[in-house]
Amino acid sequence: MTKPISHIIILGGGTAGWMTAAAFSQFLIPLGYKVTLIESDAIGTVGVGEATLPHLRFFNQTLGIDENEFMRTTHATYKIGIEFSNWGKQGDAYIHPFGDYGQALDGVEFHQLWARLKAGPGVRPLDDFCLAVSAAKAGKFTFPGTDERSILSTYSYAFHLDAGLYATYLRRYCESRGIVRIEGKVDRIEQGSDANINTLILADGSRHSADLFIDCSGFRSLLLGDKCATPFEDWSHWLACDRALAVGCEHSGSPLPYTKAIAREAGWQWRIPLQHRLGNGYVYCSQFISDDEAQHTLLSNLTGTALGEPKLLQFKAGRREKSWANNCIAIGLASGFLEPLESTSIYLIQIAIMKLIALIPRDTNCKAARDEFNRQMTLEYDRIRDFLILHYHATQRDDTAFWRRCRDMEVPEDLKIKMALFQQDGHIVSYKNGLFLEPSWLAVYAGQHIAQKNYNPLADNIAEEQLIALMESYALLVQKAVAAMPSHSETIARQCSLK
Ligand code: FAD
Repeated sequence: MTKPISHIIILGGGTAGWMTAAAFSQFLIPLGYKVTLIESDAIGTVGVGEATLPHLRFFNQTLGIDENEFMRTTHATYKIGIEFSNWGKQGDAYIHPFGDYGQALDGVEFHQLWARLKAGPGVRPLDDFCLAVSAAKAGKFTFPGTDERSILSTYSYAFHLDAGLYATYLRRYCESRGIVRIEGKVDRIEQGSDANINTLILADGSRHSADLFIDCSGFRSLLLGDKCATPFEDWSHWLACDRALAVGCEHSGSPLPYTKAIAREAGWQWRIPLQHRLGNGYVYCSQFISDDEAQHTLLSNLTGTALGEPKLLQFKAGRREKSWANNCIAIGLASGFLEPLESTSIYLIQIAIMKLIALIPRDTNCKAARDEFNRQMTLEYDRIRDFLILHYHATQRDDTAFWRRCRDMEVPEDLKIKMALFQQDGHIVSYKNGLFLEPSWLAVYAGQHIAQKNYNPLADNIAEEQLIALMESYALLVQKAVAAMPSHSETIARQCSLK
């Protein structure tokens, strides 16, 4: 039966639930929609998710959140990339920056020009042409500029934040803007004969009905997964890590403006610098290492005293076949999880919210909106998946069974094609509206020793001396810009003191 949509229930008060509620309070409540969020304090939230992508800034701006207040409240630091150590080979390291490498010339991408000169003597490393990488290595941070002619416009930034404090902040924001919060555990779910969800019944017997339901119940996926029986597409044959141990530790000295992802024997360890502590976790594959061994590895690789006992999290990489079924849309872990290697989960939450708001239907007879939402979310998940698989597959490590498995696994056809194109003539395939653009793919290819056999022949159209001179002057511009930047700590202190 078709019903007009006027009341929406969000189930779950983790990052996904409160981000969704915040956006609804901005866009839907002023139109007269009623929005209720139900969460269970007893169940709690997953409690991790501290490294983000630059898109979160635009989400916060859309909500009218003051960035300095956000930095103070969530004890955040700035992030301009991720450093990957021991991924291509033991002992090496590279940074995946939120920024460009060099400048294209006459329509030829910079890395092709660089590849042309690379065969000759004295060519600088690729990193010297990337402001974000050079600033990260120097521990510096200032805000990007908007003048496209300035080198300061060639990078972007995100945050490392305390996920619990962010959720609390958003909750306050939402409650002051008309979102109704109900505390309680959902015990039963009633569906109509049309398979639409009608009512959530809590453990205390109270009944809560709505027209549209947003499932932010985390890995449980109570509404989309359990009730609407939407199958889970398992990607663990490609992304084999299935557990993580997470613990904070004390932190002295200046926080780095980047996340660290250090490959270990059966997975990788993160280090996320916040203002007041360092977040740490070991993401691993339980087929290759026991929980006790993983805990030992994590604790013996902390750089300060642990703040409590490590928390064990279990997951499976993959996504629900659809994010929207009947009158139920899953956002966050309830729709899927791709492991935290490139900090993509909060991004996926944000874009699901924005796509849903853009397609918000007037009534429950909304097949076209549902199909389009599912199509777009499927593309997002699949493309991110392939980028993550590349990190594992593009390894020369053979020191453990885990890494040999990653190196030797069959990868999805699209990824095979992308890698072959790069290996042949250095062509990089990325999608205009996708998340990871050319510089991201280049960072991983170059950082993990995927060699390009040749370069784009169009690079030969430019005289060699001209090319050398242009490159040198670009590298000097990068050096000058980094030298003039304040340290990351100075920028944090200055911004947090601004009221
Ligand atoms: P949850 O936080 O699990 O929230 C679920 C909510 O549903 C809770 O409020 C719970 O109480 C409620 N609920 C569940 N069942 C019921 C019920 N029966 N009745 C009432 N309420 C119920 N993402 C990033 O972007 N960057 C990262 O660096 C990052 N690191 C991660 C590291 C690990 C190891 C893991 C596992 C995830 C990481 N993520 C990261 C993902 C990120 O943590 C999540 O995307 C984010 O926290 C959103 O979670 P959620 O809100 O979907 O689920």
